[in-house]
Amino acid sequence: GDSEPVVLLCTPRARLKKIGQTVMVGDRVLVVEPDWSGKRGAIAQVFSRQTELGRPPIANANQILLVFALADPPLEPMQLSRFLVTAESTGISVSLCLNKADLTTAAEHEAWRDRLSLWGYDPLFLSIQANIGLTQVSDRLDNRITVVSGPSGVGKSSLINYLIPAVDLRVATVSGKLRHGRHTTRHVELFELPTGGLLADTPGFNQPKIDCSPTTLGDYFPEVRQRLQHGSCQFNDCLHRDEPNCVVRGDWERYDHYLAFLDEAIARQQALDRQSNAESSIKVMTKGEGQRQAEPKLASQSHRRPSRRTEKQSLVDLCRDIDSSMGDRDDD
Ligand code: GDP
Ligand code: ZN
Repeated sequence: GDSEPVVLLCTPRARLKKIGQTVMVGDRVLVVEPDWSGKRGAIAQVFSRQTELGRPPIANANQILLVFALADPPLEPMQLSRFLVTAESTGISVSLCLNKADLTTAAEHEAWRDRLSLWGYDPLFLSIQANIGLTQVSDRLDNRITVVSGPSGVGKSSLINYLIPAVDLRVATVSGKLRHGRHTTRHVELFELPTGGLLADTPGFNQPKIDCSPTTLGDYFPEVRQRLQHGSCQFNDCLHRDEPNCVVRGDWERYDHYLAFLDEAIARQQALDRQSNAESSIKVMTKGEGQRQAEPKLASQSHRRPSRRTEKQSLVDLCRDIDSSMGDRDDD
């Protein structure tokens, strides 16, 4: 008879910890021994994840809503590229929104639309203040698990507040003072939208660093993917810099961004390689003192996604997250 869904506070079974199985926000789980009156249950099984995001730690997200502002702060192409590449590197589909459309002209919107279409994106023009594009943004969230991302000051909190009024994130004041409290913690919660989707209340990666391997960077540029669909480079591991018979190198707008990010990716790769060499020698030196503390990193680990980090998050931490999210809800 009650139409309100019952929310159970669930703790993972000890067996899950034994097999190293973590529980993340967004996980689909098997709940056993539900205590409906005490509103508690136990998690006996975590079903396999479609996706896994590290920042914020969320399982099964299937959309990143990347929010930028057209003005105030001004739209910087290189910064946008950096966020796009980072979003693409998660493997989760990216939906681009350009907010503060009230501050710019229709002609400017068209210029951005044309430019970004050459990048491979179809931006949604938005103004939370002037109520532009808000129906379309809701449509994009339909039946999906979405994480909002973007630099600070673009209106992410305003958008999340609009979509899920119960959250009431603190929007930056004119003085530029940033919000405190729960968003400096690792609190993550998924909110149900009236349209049937779920939205994370915590924005994702705010200051992204390019942390993919040099050879995968190209995969995160639609322009590169498109060029490789129509032809192939002479070398399989072509970095598209100065190799002969490269089909990617050329006069497309973001080629310079690609080269700049490639330098970053190469520098990071070299740092990782140095680190894993150092760790291997530590292992040799401390052999016998406890193998487990100083296991050498495999070289291939440097190619892994950053989301692996979340797998190391202990069950205790995750329980704390779940507990604190319940606590926050009570406080609100
Ligand atoms: P966040 O840092 O991305 O979460 O951005 P906030 O939501 O805190 O917003 C930053 C500032 O932009 C605040 O002063 C908002 O009032 C303002 N803002 C948000 N949306 C709009 C909009 O559509 N138009 C204009 N002109 N300002 C907006
Ligand atoms: Zn090439």
